[in-house]
Amino acid sequence: MASKEFNPFEMAQAQFDKVADLLNLDSATRELLRDPLREYAFSIPVKMDDGTTKVFRGFRVQHNDARGPAKGGIRFHPHETADTVRALAMWMTWKCAVVNIPLGGGKGGVICDPHHLSAKEQEQICRGWVRQMAKNVGPLNDVPAPDVMTNAQHMLWMLDEYETIHGAKYPGFITGKPVGMGGSLGRTEATGYGVIFVLREALKDMNIKPEETTASVQGFGNVAQYAIELYTQLGGKVIAVASWDQQDQCSYTFKKNDGVNLNQLRNITDKFGGIDKTKAKELGYEVLSGDAWIEQEVDILIPAALENQVRGDNAVKISNKVKIMVEGANGPTTPEADKIIQEKGIFLIPDFLANAGGVTCSYFEQVQSNMNYYWEKDEVLSKLDTKMTSAFRAVSDLAKKKNLYMRDAAYVISINRVAQACKDRGWV
Ligand code: GLU
Repeated sequence: MASKEFNPFEMAQAQFDKVADLLNLDSATRELLRDPLREYAFSIPVKMDDGTTKVFRGFRVQHNDARGPAKGGIRFHPHETADTVRALAMWMTWKCAVVNIPLGGGKGGVICDPHHLSAKEQEQICRGWVRQMAKNVGPLNDVPAPDVMTNAQHMLWMLDEYETIHGAKYPGFITGKPVGMGGSLGRTEATGYGVIFVLREALKDMNIKPEETTASVQGFGNVAQYAIELYTQLGGKVIAVASWDQQDQCSYTFKKNDGVNLNQLRNITDKFGGIDKTKAKELGYEVLSGDAWIEQEVDILIPAALENQVRGDNAVKISNKVKIMVEGANGPTTPEADKIIQEKGIFLIPDFLANAGGVTCSYFEQVQSNMNYYWEKDEVLSKLDTKMTSAFRAVSDLAKKKNLYMRDAAYVISINRVAQACKDRGWV
């Protein structure tokens, strides 16, 4: 989340500038790509259950749509800021480009805390968001999706409002819809599974068997849970998971040396990914500080919570045993931490490549919605695997060939694709 010292948009721009220099990008393209094309900020008044009216602040940023309609989630978070949404929209542009799907980058948000909102109040926020944005989003220009603290139910309320306003059915307006209501099988699993598809490829390159590895994960929301599920199926052992404790307003790390039990943890977790620490203790988990996940002696680190989690101050504590860091979250690592990771020789699979499985499956959902014909889950997941694997191959081949840090190699591919689309359209 954004703090006074940390500005995710400045970080996203710094990452972009570094590679723009490397590519010798012309000044017009640079100017066009380092800021969003369009931004919206608006108020959403909501009649609360107690009879009062509360006004929430909403955002949508369309960073770039040269390669196709803007695409990206809508986050509900108490610390959402315009700059966080700008950064996340920009990362969506690079994410869609790196997996080579015909979509641009966007992101939305509402400053709110769903922990303290009833379903009825959340429904009104969703409908209010769509009423403010109805003319500027749609299947052909900007397609929202779930993100932090939003889910399939929120998407369906948004779709219903959009279709009510426009007087027709537009299943392609939004993705992450419930299965049976225009959603795709595999969409819930897609981001977490995608993280593990690329991790599997990295391990293959290093000649390491997944069943001989251990991992530590930050976060226990949708991305983390499905990443743990597939990694465990491949034989890996997760020994630590960190999650947010709403009551104490801080994170804790839950550790079990012989491996955490995913289903056991799921049973004591709220719908926002918060693990109940009293119950975890009863089940034999060691409860450590929120930062302890990063200090574990494991082979693999998976930050899968929020931005600004791997910083200069804690990256120095990463064990020398760690070989790979795969970013399930968007923007978890600061440029200062990037330097430390590079110095330590850790192989990084950067966020907009590692977590691109979600948007890739959203693209499949749109394709299925447009045909009104839905694939079996196996078909969705095998198409997802193919896309993720070939994107990983392209980035790691370039990184090897040009001796680049993996984040920079991913940026080179994405920026080149987007810059080319802008040029081909005659924008720059
Ligand atoms: N919110 C997800 C992300 O950050 C998915 C976006 C989408 O499916 O459009 O990638």
